[in-house]
Amino acid sequence: GIRVEDELVRIRQLLQAAEIGYMLEGDPVLTNTSLITENVLSMCMKEAVNNVVKHSGASLCLIQIEPSRTDLVIKVKDNGTGIEGSHLYTKGHGLQGMRERLEFVNGSMEVVHDEGTTLVIKVPNVAP
Ligand code: ATP
Ligand code: MG
Repeated sequence: GIRVEDELVRIRQLLQAAEIGYMLEGDPVLTNTSLITENVLSMCMKEAVNNVVKHSGASLCLIQIEPSRTDLVIKVKDNGTGIEGSHLYTKGHGLQGMRERLEFVNGSMEVVHDEGTTLVIKVPNVAP
């Protein structure tokens, strides 16, 4: 299993190799998240960034980690072409796989179409 903190090291290397700018906001050291949930989050972030590299044509990828009292929200944002609506859950298995794994840990995912694409990934906190 891998922690979000460690996955971000690989993500930074991947984006650097693809010559896509990388920005991180928030603390990647998670304290109120179970290990299984953290593993799911890492997998989702990895797939989200793979998609940014493969499909978006973006020049920037921003990852925001936003903890609150009840849950943790991670956003993976790019400034690329955006996801074509008809490709959303039809072209591959990455997005569908993320959704299924998140459901398993009572999390959810939302795709926001803004200046590029933003994936909003939400999971519950464990009791402290
Ligand atoms: P797989 O993940 O199974 O290897 P895939 O990447 O094509 O294949 P998904 O991850 O489910 O499948 O993504 C579905 C489609 O959505 C992609 O084929 C691509 O057209 C589009 N897409 C996904 N992420 C982005 C993105 N960040 N920017 C632009 N298009 C995207
Ligand atoms: Mg994919």
